[in-house]
Amino acid sequence: MKIFGPNELLEAVINKNLCIGCGACIHLCPYFRSYKGKTAMLFPCTLEEGRCFAYCPKIEVDLDELSQQYFGRSYEGGPLGNYLSIHTAQAGPKVKKASFQAGGTVSALMSFALAKGYIDAAVLTDKEGILPVPRVITDADEVLTCSSSKYSASPTLSALNQAMTDEYTKIGVVATPCQVLSVAQMRMNPLEKEDFVDSVALVVGLFCTWAIDFRTFAPFISERVDITTITKVDIPPPPSEIMEVYMGEEKIEIPLNEIRELVPETCSYCIDMTSEFSDISVGVLEGRPDMNTLIIRTDRGQKIVNEAVQEGYLVIEDIPEENLEHLMWAAGNKKKRAFAKAKEEGMINAEEDKKSYLRLQPKTVKEITG
Ligand SMILES: Cc1cc2nc3c(=O)[nH]c(=O)nc-3n(C[C@H](O)[C@H](O)[C@H](O)COP(=O)(O)OP(=O)(O)OC[C@H]3O[C@@H](n4cnc5c(N)ncnc54)[C@H](O)[C@@H]3O)c2cc1C
Ligand code: SF4
Ligand code: SF4
Repeated sequence: MKIFGPNELLEAVINKNLCIGCGACIHLCPYFRSYKGKTAMLFPCTLEEGRCFAYCPKIEVDLDELSQQYFGRSYEGGPLGNYLSIHTAQAGPKVKKASFQAGGTVSALMSFALAKGYIDAAVLTDKEGILPVPRVITDADEVLTCSSSKYSASPTLSALNQAMTDEYTKIGVVATPCQVLSVAQMRMNPLEKEDFVDSVALVVGLFCTWAIDFRTFAPFISERVDITTITKVDIPPPPSEIMEVYMGEEKIEIPLNEIRELVPETCSYCIDMTSEFSDISVGVLEGRPDMNTLIIRTDRGQKIVNEAVQEGYLVIEDIPEENLEHLMWAAGNKKKRAFAKAKEEGMINAEEDKKSYLRLQPKTVKEITG
């Protein structure tokens, strides 16, 4: 993995509008800050190698190295990445009702992991109005206060850095695929520090096709409603093609093609729909708004799912073949499109002296893009 410093991060990611605002470079030092969707370097820093650069999921990501580390094989470019099994899922009877995005599987897993001591802190995403706000939660019941999706990209990983500074040693994190990629890089100890401890004990990755940029979303919504009165934002599953914005009992609907205009360009280079470097991935289940799709990827993910089922936190079933086929198709499409775009723009396997967005075996790129 090639590592540079904050100035190169600024030049190669932030100034090129590739930053998604994941928060991985925040709370590592006094220099980088995140404010309402914007990531900025406040003062100059001349460090030649920094964790900020090493953790960023938008520069010098070596997919083969990550895949070797976590799955013991090179990156193969399949639509869903490596996995053990795929199911449908929803929160079980042991979990209190809350305003879940779908089946409440994510909240159920994090509550279970905290209640059983598999993790000592959960890094989650709460909201203030429509602004996503990272949180470190240590109480199993409190996990439910962060349920539901916030559709703007969130600096959630700033809370992971904070939790590490606060010396939590078994941290669970719920993250989008770009954030999961960053967490995987963090866990490889890229700066080869002798006192490094991997304090991430569970990674639950979300599915994601795109997120909105809060900096354009806030003014867009303000033109339509009083932003301070918004109680909930929802995007019902296809074929609805709308975003619903609730102000208590009142609701307005916004066509999704207007919302897609607010998606930052960087999402179009994103090759991962299902958080391939997580322990467990969770998304919606087409045609069943009260259920989730659940992908188990690692042994530790398997163990937690098995026990959560046994203890009534989770209910899982076999996934219907047509749902699986559609999932493969959607994830494969996203991957192919993003790889083709990044390849066309010279962002894959750049020459040794240049910075590259992705690195992986050229034959794999060819297999994916055809
Ligand atoms: C930006 C975004 C785009 C998504 N796109 C898709 C998609 O295309 N297809 C699909 O199947 N699913 C998508 N999802 C996932 C889906 O919306 C649900 O999060 C998932 O199905 C889990 O549902 P649940 O009922 O188990 O979640 P809940 O139990 O309600 O928990 C939701 C969890 O999501 C976390 N969270 C909320 N907002 C964010 C955020 N902005 N960044 C990081 N973490 C967050 C919270 O910490 C919470 O733990 C997306 C989610 C997000 C945040
Ligand atoms: S680490 Fe995340 S927030 Fe920081 S520059 Fe990279 S994408 Fe942006
Ligand atoms: S599409 Fe990719 S880059 Fe954009 S928010 Fe989702 S995971 Fe992150």
